[in-house]
Amino acid sequence: MAGMNPSLDPAAPLAADRAEPAGATGPVLDRLGRRLHDLRISVTDRCNFRCTYCMPREIYGRDFAFLPRSEVLSFEEIERLARVFVAEGVEKLRVTGGEPLVRRDLPDLIAMLAALRRADGGPLDLTLTTNGSALRPLAGLLRDAGLGRITVSLDSLDDATFRAMNGIDYPVARVLDGIAAATESGFGPLKINMVVRRGINETSILPMARWARREGHILRFIEYMDVGHSNGWRLDEVVPASEIVGLIHAELGLEPLPPNYTGEVADRWCYRDGDGEVGVIASVSQPFCSSCTRARLSAEGKLYTCLFALDGTDLRGPLRDGAADAELTAAIRAVWRVRADRYSELRSEATANRPRIEMFAIGG
Ligand code: SAM
Ligand code: SF4
Ligand code: SF4
Repeated sequence: MAGMNPSLDPAAPLAADRAEPAGATGPVLDRLGRRLHDLRISVTDRCNFRCTYCMPREIYGRDFAFLPRSEVLSFEEIERLARVFVAEGVEKLRVTGGEPLVRRDLPDLIAMLAALRRADGGPLDLTLTTNGSALRPLAGLLRDAGLGRITVSLDSLDDATFRAMNGIDYPVARVLDGIAAATESGFGPLKINMVVRRGINETSILPMARWARREGHILRFIEYMDVGHSNGWRLDEVVPASEIVGLIHAELGLEPLPPNYTGEVADRWCYRDGDGEVGVIASVSQPFCSSCTRARLSAEGKLYTCLFALDGTDLRGPLRDGAADAELTAAIRAVWRVRADRYSELRSEATANRPRIEMFAIGG
């Protein structure tokens, strides 16, 4: 790790820094004054898709060793940790993966998470991000279990482009049917995530915008990110958010919208002549680390404080060793207190070859 900027290294904080000042209460803040507000829970590292930008099939083939079941947190373990995070002030839970809907009996977990309450007694914002392929059989069960909102990832309406990007030749019509199932089950408006890659699906930007507006979905364009190492990311494949907005504005006319809340990652726009909203997540061209309040729990129970982290902190060990809630709370607060992550703001040639976790392992 010679030459690494020490401020990028989560191991850099001294052990002494981790000690909580005596009598500390209230929301825990990290070194940059950010609170812990959102928890993304990866329920599996497996996926039925092989999206070229996330789990390219050449690397994640038949021989790839995913986590054995014994190493994956059980629903009871996930619920226990989520409960501790919520007691620490987390108000939003996003269930993700891998593909969360490949985890058997997922609606049971959703029901357990939906029963959690914030300290003031209010309900949590409980959401799920999915590739949409299993929504036809599951959307109704997820709704009944108490899931609040769904985000579906969809990178093109063009069948050939979509089949190539998902890496398994999966037809777009089946995801559209899953989206229809979610709407029929009472979810809405849905959010649709579209990762834009130069030369691959740029021409899908306008058709996606027109479609989402017509269907009443909230479309979020995501700049292609250098998460993990297996996607062979190159900066020239990133279509900057400003270019995406400019393209839509030229045809459909956009006006900026204020953020819904502090820390919202998307820049939002509405159509000048009526209903509809689009957003851009400009993680590469306009990083938003200063307001990043998200923690991530991997399927094996590691806590990550950044999408680009080198490693996480094991919570499964203490959990399975019988730690009390207070001990788990102390472990989480200790990690958050020393958090100084701001990878996207520091992204440069110096960061390009750093080891980091893959996106599917800790969720989006
Ligand atoms: N399998 C689910 C899905 O695709 O929605 C949930 C997990 S996936 C890792 C979460 C989100 O991360 C998806 O919207 C996906 O498009 C996005 N994503 C994955 N790799 C990415 C990358 N290299 N750059 C930007 N977004 C990425
Ligand atoms: Fe699977 Fe989602 Fe990654 Fe695509 S983006 S390979 S659907 S985890
Ligand atoms: Fe948050 Fe890390 Fe992304 Fe910055 S790079 S916004 S700290 S996850």
